[in-house]
Amino acid sequence: MLSAIVGINWGDEGKGRMVDLLSSDYDVICRYQGGNNAGHTVINDKGKFVLNLLPSGILRETTVNVMGNGMVVDLEHLVNEIKSLTEKGIKISPDNLKISDKALICMPYNKMQDIMEEERLADKQFGSTRRGIAYIYADKYMKKGIRMGDLFDDEAILAEKVKDIVEWKNITFRGYGKEELRAEDMLSWLKSYGDPMKPYVVDTTVYLNNAIKENKNIMFEAQLGALRDIDFGIYPYTSSSTVLASYATIGAGIPGAKLDESIGIMKAYSTCVGEGPFTVEMEGKEAEDLRAAGGEYGAATGRPRRVGAFDVVASKYGCLVQGADYIALTKMDVLSYMDKIPVCTAYDIDGEITTDFPIGVRLDRAKPVIEYLEGFGDISGCRRKEELPKAALDYIRYIEKAVGCPIKYVSVGADRDSYVKMFD
Ligand code: GDP
Ligand code: MG
Repeated sequence: MLSAIVGINWGDEGKGRMVDLLSSDYDVICRYQGGNNAGHTVINDKGKFVLNLLPSGILRETTVNVMGNGMVVDLEHLVNEIKSLTEKGIKISPDNLKISDKALICMPYNKMQDIMEEERLADKQFGSTRRGIAYIYADKYMKKGIRMGDLFDDEAILAEKVKDIVEWKNITFRGYGKEELRAEDMLSWLKSYGDPMKPYVVDTTVYLNNAIKENKNIMFEAQLGALRDIDFGIYPYTSSSTVLASYATIGAGIPGAKLDESIGIMKAYSTCVGEGPFTVEMEGKEAEDLRAAGGEYGAATGRPRRVGAFDVVASKYGCLVQGADYIALTKMDVLSYMDKIPVCTAYDIDGEITTDFPIGVRLDRAKPVIEYLEGFGDISGCRRKEELPKAALDYIRYIEKAVGCPIKYVSVGADRDSYVKMFD
């Protein structure tokens, strides 16, 4: 069984929480794209954890975790993330963590470039997480990246590689009027944080193909949501990688394998971190109330998230591009405080009503068409479908029909067991 767990919206749908729940049925959990710009919060019997680079399966003793070739790895961050989890009692070793030899290393200069550029843009900032992700992916396509496997090179060969890249980077640093980089600093950073990670580096193509032969169940964990996909999202306000389910096997290392299912994680309302069009955005007290109820502050950055009503148009599109077979609807309990629940059922673009997700200026001009559904009160204690009030079932059925995808799980709290299964 090969399953992808992917985001339907703008990210922060609760993917980490659902991976933590569903991973009991899987042997291997793979991250296949992105870097430490992700923030996945998991709360279980061991405590509360925020994962940036490590797959959320790392919290289970029974799973092996893979960081695939589609990822970009800030080694310093990884070493620290492992250290902080280890201090909380999580066992991490080359037995339960494997890193692709083809994953790119996100270098300190990538982070510096990100910061320099956001500063230059001033009030036109992209709202980057400033972790260098766009810059290392750009380096990848420029063929100027250093990969995990390069750590095993002869020292002289690696030094030469770093020297050439630093020479090239310094053209940019001079352009920004910044101090030039020194190749030896980059090399010693690679040694300090790369050497401890060497025992974890494997050919994930070999490892995962063997796992398939042994009939292991493999789960692919996405970072971010469909609307942040580099091709199909709200470009240019997107992430720099392919977050979609169809990339999962490629980014993990087994491009020849076929995915059995795509599980879409969709939030019962909308949130968005950073800049870009967000049609359903609420303002003032309405926004403050929802942000407070949902605790909507970024797990990776602490930034307050923009919030809004559930967006049928964007979510239907998200389900489509993710090829979602079924949905886990998350954070439904957060809506408990509302007497009537706003839902954006369509966009009004210059008087034309549509449920097809637009791009570019048409998206910028879109106004939400809002309808209200009945509130359902506190559902955080519900564990069985029969315990859900009729109004909650109506909300679920309405959304299911509007986005055209069945809802299998409804999450009603952040803890592992706070969910309702709608069907088997
Ligand atoms: P991810 O990036 O998709 O993994 O999501 P995040 O972890 O960034 O954001 C989801 C947040 O919502 C986390 O703080 C979770 O603990 C929390 N959460 C997840 N599911 C639920 C839920 O059903 N109810 C509530 N109240 N919180 C939830
Ligand atoms: Mg997140």
